[in-house]
Amino acid sequence: MTIAIYPGSFDPITNGHLDIAARAAKLFEKLIIGVYEAPNKHPLFTAEERVELVRQSIADLPNVAAESYRELTVDFARRVNAQAIVRGLRMSADFEREFDMAMMNKRLYPELELVCLMASMEYQFLSSTLLKEAASLGGNISDLVPEHVATALRKRVHGKM
Ligand code: ADP
Repeated sequence: MTIAIYPGSFDPITNGHLDIAARAAKLFEKLIIGVYEAPNKHPLFTAEERVELVRQSIADLPNVAAESYRELTVDFARRVNAQAIVRGLRMSADFEREFDMAMMNKRLYPELELVCLMASMEYQFLSSTLLKEAASLGGNISDLVPEHVATALRKRVHGKM
């Protein structure tokens, strides 16, 4: 069975992430969205909340699952028997960072392949960070995330203000 992981912080998941997940789901028999707990990044949502938001977003993708992890990404890949890592590349700043991480991951787990999918045009400038900033300032984010994510985000940022 071809298995890939799609790792990230997903704080929270956006339509850009979902676009990559849906496209990758056509290439692999199973895709596991790995929600990195990322405690050092002080995420807005807990790992459990992020996984739940991802799960609700992928309800219509039968071969896609989600779980959180806290170990090295390559060790997570080994644990779930994945042969590939999927990442999304936006035009702006992603390439150099991905390249560095890919070189390190290759050293740590040479058999694991990296598959980068180009972000679709409409999501090139969408990031979870910008999304949170826009939401906290009352911006309309409803066409950038699924409805349940928009609701959770509004609740969280306004609860904090
Ligand atoms: P990380 O903390 O690893 O950057 P993210 O949750 O921000 O995790 O992103 C996970 C993956 O999704 C990364 O490969 C990132 O480049 C990609 N990604 C993020 N936003 C988009 C988007 N708008 N379109 C396509 N890919 C994206």
